[in-house]
Amino acid sequence: MRASVSERQVDVAIIGAGPAGLTAAYLLTKAGLTVTVIEKDARYVGGISRTVEHQGFRFDIGGHRFFSKSKEVVDLWNEILPDDFIVRPRMSRIYYEGKFYSYPLRAFEALRNLGLIRSGLCMASYLRWKAFPKKDTRSFEDWTINQFGKKLFSIFFKTYTEKVWGMACSDISADWAAQRIKGLSLGKAVLDGFRRSLGLNKKPNDGMETKTLLESFRYPRKGPGMMWEAARDHVVAGGNQVLMGHALKQLSHDAEGWRVSATNDEGERIIRARHVISSAPIRELLGRIHPLPETLPQARDLKYRDFLTVALMIRSPDLFPDNWIYIHDSKVKVGRIQNFRSWSPEMVPDEELACVGLEYFCFEGDGLWSSSDEELIALATREMATLGLCDPATVEGGAVVRQEKAYPVYDDCYAANVAAIRDELETAYPTLHLVGRNGMHRYNNQDHAMMTAMLTVRNILADNRAFDIWAVNEDAEYHEAGDEGAQATIGMPQNAELSEDQRVALDSVRTVPRPLKAA
Ligand SMILES: Cc1cc2nc3c(=O)[nH]c(=O)nc-3n(C[C@H](O)[C@H](O)[C@H](O)COP(=O)(O)OP(=O)(O)OC[C@H]3O[C@@H](n4cnc5c(N)ncnc54)[C@H](O)[C@@H]3O)c2cc1C
Repeated sequence: MRASVSERQVDVAIIGAGPAGLTAAYLLTKAGLTVTVIEKDARYVGGISRTVEHQGFRFDIGGHRFFSKSKEVVDLWNEILPDDFIVRPRMSRIYYEGKFYSYPLRAFEALRNLGLIRSGLCMASYLRWKAFPKKDTRSFEDWTINQFGKKLFSIFFKTYTEKVWGMACSDISADWAAQRIKGLSLGKAVLDGFRRSLGLNKKPNDGMETKTLLESFRYPRKGPGMMWEAARDHVVAGGNQVLMGHALKQLSHDAEGWRVSATNDEGERIIRARHVISSAPIRELLGRIHPLPETLPQARDLKYRDFLTVALMIRSPDLFPDNWIYIHDSKVKVGRIQNFRSWSPEMVPDEELACVGLEYFCFEGDGLWSSSDEELIALATREMATLGLCDPATVEGGAVVRQEKAYPVYDDCYAANVAAIRDELETAYPTLHLVGRNGMHRYNNQDHAMMTAMLTVRNILADNRAFDIWAVNEDAEYHEAGDEGAQATIGMPQNAELSEDQRVALDSVRTVPRPLKAA
């Protein structure tokens, strides 16, 4: 039987139904434009911010807090999902050899948990490195050892950092450590401990930062996917299409505009559009543009870190009250453990069961990634026992969620590669708009991915690329250095206004470690 081909003409074709793609689709629908979204996942919208369901249990990929400095983003969240946000307390600690440690670390609590001998060794190591610090602090390892001593570094920094980033701490550049761990000084913490012993500091010493305990975040009661399902429903109710299970096959431009072809099991869809918005990873997109762009080799050089969660259902009360715990233990491969009921009670349908998600950071195709679901569930069960967190006999079920390209990698060449790709595409195709996290190869949260889509919609409605969504990262660093006004900061043309609110949102970029350049 011949596969069918159908064709539709719209104003805007959107690749990907994650936060960026659906934000664009939602706003364009509201503005009265015709839109078709293609999404390669057959079942879920939301991309990395989706919520996966397994026999009534719900998991999200990494735990998604809804927090934004931008009122505009928060207003949009409230508009899309007016009745379903809950406010949750935030709690997360480090778990090491059977004990919980506050995060950020509190020196006295840490030393007490470590016991007398190991604490003595930590203090001796701290004093040794304070007296004779490494002179040339080029790496994360050098910087952290100078700050805390080698013993504390190996317990609290080395294992977790190496699990997450897949790089040795000696290969990560020191500037990231300085940014990431600033304000955390053993000296200050010791002083604080003395003040507390003398009764001069009345703040509770309960193993949690008081501030952390008070911190809370908003969360859709059924997980982040709920937000993106609601956005999709608005788009469809507005007469537009979200085609599930449709992966981009080819993208080309001619005198009539864009021709986007997408395939699923049943055949091929052709979408004709004036504009295309892409939130697909740049590496994938460039291989689909016809004729192939000259910067395809640069796109192929972009790298990603992948991620998988093994959810376990355990016959037990919740194992800990935290939303998640960091695992600083080299005996196990797991990096973090989520506690889904702490995110929302509605994530776990059975009150008799606890549901945790063991998170493994990996590379697509490596040993972990290619293990079968059964092997991964068995590994997670073994590691829970090794950590002393549960008896394997109480594990009643499990599910595996793989997330390819969870983190765009910032290596030495990524910035030049992205700049070259952007340059070629913007010159050749002014109506092709790259948005979002992997769509722009930027390590950004949902709110930032959404903001790039919001500004792109404005550019499309104005038929003018007035908002430069690409100037964000470089200028965010510039801005953090405490420099001038909004227009210069985000490289806007003189006639385009960026509100304070948009500027703050665009500036909220997370820092990631950079590898040391070869000497
Ligand atoms: C572990 C982890 C924890 C996080 N925690 C938070 C948090 O607490 N708060 C927060 O705000 N953010 C968090 N984030 C970031 C957040 O997940 C992303 O910023 C957000 O999902 C990016 O949205 P996006 O639309 O740009 O991309 P994505 O979410 O990647 O969506 C892209 C969509 O495009 C689809 N697609 C890709 N290629 C194609 C193709 N060829 N054809 C058709 N469709 C395609 C994908 O299937 C996907 O649905 C976290 C991320 C990770 C990895």
